[in-house]
Amino acid sequence: MSAPNPDVAGTAFDRRALADFRSLAGRIDGNGPRYTSYPTADRFHNEIGDAGYLRALQDCRANAPAPLSLYLHIPFCENICYYCGCNKIITKDHSRSAQYVDYLAREMAMVAGRLGQRRAVMQSHWGGGTPTFLDPDEMRRVMAALREHFDLLPEGEHSIEIDPRRVTDARMDLLAELGFNRISLGVQDFDPEVQQAVHRVQSYEETRNIVLAARRLGFQSVSVDLIYGLPHQTTARFAATVDRVLDLRPDRLSVYSYAHLPHVFKPQRRIDAATLPPAAEKLDILVSTIERLTAAGYVYIGMDHFALPDDDLAVAQREGWLQRNFQGYATHAGYDQIGLGVSAIGAVAGHYVQNARTTDAYYAALDAGRLPIVRGLEMTADDHLRKAIIGALMCNGTLDIAMVEAEHGIDFASTFAAELADLDTLAADHLVRRTPERIEITPLGRLLVRRVAMVFDRYLREDAARPQPAPAANDGKVIPLVRYSRVV
Ligand code: SF4
Repeated sequence: MSAPNPDVAGTAFDRRALADFRSLAGRIDGNGPRYTSYPTADRFHNEIGDAGYLRALQDCRANAPAPLSLYLHIPFCENICYYCGCNKIITKDHSRSAQYVDYLAREMAMVAGRLGQRRAVMQSHWGGGTPTFLDPDEMRRVMAALREHFDLLPEGEHSIEIDPRRVTDARMDLLAELGFNRISLGVQDFDPEVQQAVHRVQSYEETRNIVLAARRLGFQSVSVDLIYGLPHQTTARFAATVDRVLDLRPDRLSVYSYAHLPHVFKPQRRIDAATLPPAAEKLDILVSTIERLTAAGYVYIGMDHFALPDDDLAVAQREGWLQRNFQGYATHAGYDQIGLGVSAIGAVAGHYVQNARTTDAYYAALDAGRLPIVRGLEMTADDHLRKAIIGALMCNGTLDIAMVEAEHGIDFASTFAAELADLDTLAADHLVRRTPERIEITPLGRLLVRRVAMVFDRYLREDAARPQPAPAANDGKVIPLVRYSRVV
């Protein structure tokens, strides 16, 4: 934890910073990794295997009784949204999820067996896909299996992603009964023409009903996702969507940029590129959205995230203990995170591990009595150091140099001479302020924070220092809808 940066406190966003952002964004590329992990997932390799994961679980076991974080991936969706870049299975055959639930329970038992004792869980998240593709009995079975092996703390954060088109009041009752206390809803845009173009037709009333049910049932937090840069969007049209969302007053809002990469994500081939807003319009949509949300009292947390001032994310940022994990910004990201289900990523005892991406490979590994890990990475001391620096800059907008030196046993100036020279270039563009004691992100820098974080990414620096091959598909350099993709 470090002293908060005064520029990240409060709800009002500096209007001059928005004007500077508008003029700078074309020159300084804001694209880059989102650093939901460091090293980023495109650096994972397939040499780690389940042996590496077993070692990590052994270390995690030694760390008991520290609480854990869990991520469960439910990959099924009934319909395709054309913008989607996540790992999902489109099917109307609900018998497929029954089999999946069996294997999920087997994976839980296998992992929990390695941990040696029932561990407390402070944070759990069901993502997808569409977790509510599971029928009520299947959801009960998954939750029962979780509770058999883990102790889900009632004071913890237990969240689930909801597709408002598929969730009834009765299902909301069930979610509350099962112990979920937070929900996140995909909205993207309420404009009918945009919805038709992306093949996701969802009425305002469906969304409103879910929010009202969540309030009635006492859910602690409702989070809404929007996407800008979709076909037919204009600044005025998207502003109308934002205003309708503001009427619902969600606790958190995520506003993601759509990246059109039809060569990477096949469903995007069904989007007519000629209908996408031009780059300048897209930038206007973003600036207008930030203005609207901050004027309505939301705090700009960073990257794509906004929260009400009394939401835990905003409090954590004000107090300097905000963190990042695979779900983006988080308040309990310091725990080992166990990933369960196809393609799920875990972060355990200095290791990142990712499960097989297809159900066939996932089932085959479990049938063979193996953990279904296919790739990952064991962090080096340098990875830990840079992760801490990137996290401090992205979450709290400030880096206490003496604290980093003390915690990691380094001399900052000599270890990061090249990085500091690059930071001076960004300082000339008013993205950062640098003193011998601190690095601070300016209000303008907060809008381009990944550009600042990239300075400390050793892997990107090494890439830049050698001749570049053609980039592989989805290599993490240009990041599309990562909210829906656990792979970067
Ligand atoms: S955006 Fe969500 S609901 Fe739509 S296809 Fe992707 S995972 Fe499924």
